[in-house]
Amino acid sequence: MEYTVETFQDHLAEKLKKDRGRTLQEANEKDLYYAVAAIAQERLNEKWVNTREKYKQNEERQVYYISMEFLIGRLMENNLMNCGLLDICNKTLISLGKDPEKVYSQEHDAGLGNGGLGRLAACFLDSIASLRYAGHGSGIRYRYGLFEQRIIHGNQVELPDYWLKEDYPWETRRPEESLTVHFGGEVHMHHRADNVLEFSYEDTDEVRAVPYDVPVSGYHNDVVNTLRLWSAELPEQESDILAESESKYYHHLDHMHSIEQISGFLYPDDSQYEGKELRIKQQYFLVSATIQNIIREFKEKNGRDLHKLHEKAVIQINDTHPSLAVPELMRILMDNEKFSWEDAWEVTTKTIAYTNHTTLSEALEKWPVEMIKNLLPRIYMIIYEINERFCRGIWFDHPELRDKIPEVAVIADDQIHMARLAIVGSFSVNGVAQLHTEILKKKEMKPFYDLFPSKFNNKTNGITHRRWLLQVNPALSQTITEAIGPQWIRQPAKLIGLMRYSNDRPFLDDIASVKHQNKLALAELIKSRTGITINEHSIFDVQIKRLHEYKRQLLNIFHVIYLYNELKDNPSLDLTPRTFIFAAKAAPSYHMAKEVIKLIHHVASVVNHDKEINDKLKVIFLENYNVSLAEKIIPAAELSEQISTASKEASGTGNMKMMMNGAMTVGTLDGANIEIKDLVGDDNIFIFGLNSEQVLDYYANGGYNAKDIYHTDERVRRIMDQLQVGAFGSQEIEFKDIFYHMLYHNDPYFVLKDFDPYIETHELVERSYRNQEYWQKMSVANIAYSGKFSSDRTIHEYASDIWKIKPVK
Ligand SMILES: *Cc1c(COP(=O)(O)O)cnc(C)c1O
Repeated sequence: MEYTVETFQDHLAEKLKKDRGRTLQEANEKDLYYAVAAIAQERLNEKWVNTREKYKQNEERQVYYISMEFLIGRLMENNLMNCGLLDICNKTLISLGKDPEKVYSQEHDAGLGNGGLGRLAACFLDSIASLRYAGHGSGIRYRYGLFEQRIIHGNQVELPDYWLKEDYPWETRRPEESLTVHFGGEVHMHHRADNVLEFSYEDTDEVRAVPYDVPVSGYHNDVVNTLRLWSAELPEQESDILAESESKYYHHLDHMHSIEQISGFLYPDDSQYEGKELRIKQQYFLVSATIQNIIREFKEKNGRDLHKLHEKAVIQINDTHPSLAVPELMRILMDNEKFSWEDAWEVTTKTIAYTNHTTLSEALEKWPVEMIKNLLPRIYMIIYEINERFCRGIWFDHPELRDKIPEVAVIADDQIHMARLAIVGSFSVNGVAQLHTEILKKKEMKPFYDLFPSKFNNKTNGITHRRWLLQVNPALSQTITEAIGPQWIRQPAKLIGLMRYSNDRPFLDDIASVKHQNKLALAELIKSRTGITINEHSIFDVQIKRLHEYKRQLLNIFHVIYLYNELKDNPSLDLTPRTFIFAAKAAPSYHMAKEVIKLIHHVASVVNHDKEINDKLKVIFLENYNVSLAEKIIPAAELSEQISTASKEASGTGNMKMMMNGAMTVGTLDGANIEIKDLVGDDNIFIFGLNSEQVLDYYANGGYNAKDIYHTDERVRRIMDQLQVGAFGSQEIEFKDIFYHMLYHNDPYFVLKDFDPYIETHELVERSYRNQEYWQKMSVANIAYSGKFSSDRTIHEYASDIWKIKPVK
């Protein structure tokens, strides 16, 4: 049914009356939000039923993407767009005198992720559905998402993110599909008549896993896949127990509380491992519920025999967090389905594929044997056996690798190494950018690569261009479509057609004017959130991402301080005005990261209030970085800061989002920056600093001394000393921790080493910016080549190389 403004308005009025008890005239933005969501959900539900029917008849493998994080952000515009309702809904709301943006922003971001890893999972689901693949997400329905960040006197303060405070209109609770997950208890062994060992468990603690389904719609294609989020609850028979004494009653409440904690909150550490028992409980809860669910779905369609599970299902695990999928699938196949070890191992290792996201040592998950033994005794036995067989295999079949056993053993030093478990138990191990995969093969996972070379492969990350271009930047999308037609929306590689316009003056003017409009919109947002007026003609220099030492926000703020010092020395310096825009959350326990946030704020308050500086420099920190904020900043970005210490950023995806919106990258040769450079060419990107080989060589062989730079580079010494003496902030606020950390831990992220080339590169940026025509051409080249970084390309590669599936017709 095609809507007109009149019929859409009628439908809206009907929904408002039925669901909210309001008339159109009475309805506030919240009422309108729920009414529009209900209209969209109605459409989605129809397609959902049809999609499930299709998949039941289809013979393709089903993909299950298991991830502890799904950073999906808001769904309203995405769902309206995919159902073809966005335009008519916008028009209708405007005709009613309402601002659609205000209505849609009633949705609380689903912040069920920390950063890149969780956002990747969200982009992948979008591409899987839009490309008609049968693939579903499986995650946890955390009651509290990633904390909300406030800044008070320059300090980060964390507030709980109770995103479910108001009804979440996209989820459907399906209690009838609940499953039971078991923890603890005792394992008993019995000899069967045929002398095969059998295992049973007693006195386990039971947790009920209740699924909440969120529809994942494809773009204009009738596909609606499922993101299934599991909630931890008390088992049904226990929830209506009659406590016969007060102490039993309180004990009961305590018990309920501890179970509900399993899906209570998302751990706020990004690229950092937290060895808390509750975290491993979350991981097992997710994995066990998901695998039981996969098996149930398999049986409904294919009958009871699970020997062909791998022909009908493939499990992709997003990082090592769901690695217990390996022993859990083994457990179910052996203990419930009575498989032999060999048969169970064959099916398991043909079903599970693993994506590695990092080589940072602080991120590598290792769990104490004692903890796993107590919490998951049967799972521990299986991991033990996996390790025995694996090590024995090396000893006998690969004598040349015998001395590597301590480096590859799944259990070593009384710890379970989750990455090793994932590699041994899967048929595919992929990195997320070319460089990252090479580092895995040649360095971090070399012994495994020597053992299983064919398991290793690369899948460079991507982003959904439907959200990160079409939805967030409608003006640019329209300009593109006017030039090359709309095919790029379904085939983003077609963006390359824009290269034909790189000498077309009117087109370059359009690109410039769209960027300017987006800058004005961001300036307004900055004004309303911070009270600061920024210069709309300044360069918008953007670094937005989690705060981490390796991402080097510190190098960026050193550049700001350097420019400030230059201007103080020479107030008439001819400098192109700049606005530095930061947004970043630090893990609550990450002291250095919090110090950097504080430093950015204190530099900002000095720079922004200095009359002499006027509007030549402004430093803006926007609180609470999340998907919705990213959507507002990215269309206005002109410079994209991707300045991680080379070798440390596995891929990055923020780099891709900004490139796609016409920003130029200032970056190191790290992660996907290298692939961006290979496409756009050296002239359309600003590369600086140490490369990964140099960095890795310094780590291995030494030869770098941060104090030498402090003593020889006056600019560096001046900045460092300013930190020490409280030039930014009052007497009590000195940044001595940063100062000492840099000099006495020898600047482990090479901030001082890369300072000079970074400054020099920014001088080149400035010269380039002064030639606006040249700048717009660079911008066009970046948009044109960004098609490769659509997650559609990435998902096609996963589908054909790893999952071996085709789109469903
Ligand atoms: C894209 C995205 C990230 C990842 O950014 P990187 O620059 O790749 O680290 C993190 N958080 C949010 C909200 C994002 O949208």
